[in-house]
Amino acid sequence: MEATDPTALEDRYGAHNYHPLPVVLAEGEGAWVTDTDGNRYLDWLAAYSAVNFGHRHPRLIAAAKAQLDRLTLASRAFRTDALGPFLAGLAELCGKDAVLPMNTGAEAVETAIKAARKWGYTKKGVPADRARIVVFDGNFHGRTTTIVGFSSDPGSREGFGPFTPGFDSIPYGDIDALHAAIGSDTAAVLIEPVQGEAGVIVPPAGYLRAVRAACDQSNVLMIADEIQSGLARTGHTFACDREDVVPDVYLLGKALGGGVVPVSAVAADREVMDVFTPGTHGSTFGGNPVAAAVGAEVVAMLATGEWQARARDLGKHLEDALATLDPSAVDAVRVCGLWAGVDLADGGPSAREVCERAARLGLLCKETHEKTVRIAPPLVIEPEEIDRGVAILKRAIEG
Ligand SMILES: *Cc1c(COP(=O)(O)O)cnc(C)c1O
Repeated sequence: MEATDPTALEDRYGAHNYHPLPVVLAEGEGAWVTDTDGNRYLDWLAAYSAVNFGHRHPRLIAAAKAQLDRLTLASRAFRTDALGPFLAGLAELCGKDAVLPMNTGAEAVETAIKAARKWGYTKKGVPADRARIVVFDGNFHGRTTTIVGFSSDPGSREGFGPFTPGFDSIPYGDIDALHAAIGSDTAAVLIEPVQGEAGVIVPPAGYLRAVRAACDQSNVLMIADEIQSGLARTGHTFACDREDVVPDVYLLGKALGGGVVPVSAVAADREVMDVFTPGTHGSTFGGNPVAAAVGAEVVAMLATGEWQARARDLGKHLEDALATLDPSAVDAVRVCGLWAGVDLADGGPSAREVCERAARLGLLCKETHEKTVRIAPPLVIEPEEIDRGVAILKRAIEG
């Protein structure tokens, strides 16, 4: 073994399915991370919203440590004293009867697809094996073969077929397209209330409400993938709250694990959740005691509404700060709570170049597609740190 530094080892022995920015992080606290040379960076990605509460939030670390000293894994073959309280808290936060815990976001999405199909057959009366699910162009729901099969991103799907049938993809934000796509075999509409990976795309005002109405009208489940948008990021517990819309099914992940462990969940009422009976679905690690302990603490933190209010207030600050970017260098800025997509103008640097320059100046953010810089700081960030980050972003765009 020749290579000894971590980057060389990663490149030599790792699969090359990521193209990370050239920083090697060793520590994190709050909104800040530190590399192996001791350089500090403001983290404006927050692990795609998984670190909403900041790096190593003391309450979450304490909850994890306490559980690590008691019991870490039992499988669902046995009950543990950690699971029930987590499920109860999350069900209450969601206003739903029941919760099914998994680990990753993609697993929550897969769980919802299974639930929707079985609900379609057993409750709606869709003929066997004919259930369809409406999805949206530009979606991102994870990386399993079923999920990438209905992605519109060639890089996500090419070479991985054959794909699972039963999905209809339509333009996001176009309510007529949704009415046209829903048929008698449609069991569900699977929607991101704000499309994260697509570049923080906020649908037109009233759209989510119209989606809700279309689902009600045709007895179709509305499944909201709130894995990136949920849990305070947009200034609300759920992005659906922005339009007072309550979906039939919430999908949660990312921030649900507090940046400590992978935790995802499906929340729904009994009429949907009870399609699952013993042996029809499961996960070795889903709902494990450490995940449950951290998830319960996340839920307790969100119950007061402080984080949602903070994201709302700081989001206004971020919006004002981003409004000072050079209009000739920026095509569009979309802000939703403490979450933003900045589309760079043609002729200037690519989003990747801007992110690389920003990293050299002490700010970590991540490009999505060619021209969009996605901004998602941890919600613990201070207003001055937002100003500091935007100043760096300005310099990085100017080059
Ligand atoms: C990240 C993400 C997923 C997938 O989550 P993983 O934990 O990476 O499997 C699904 N849906 C949305 C909206 C996401 O942002």
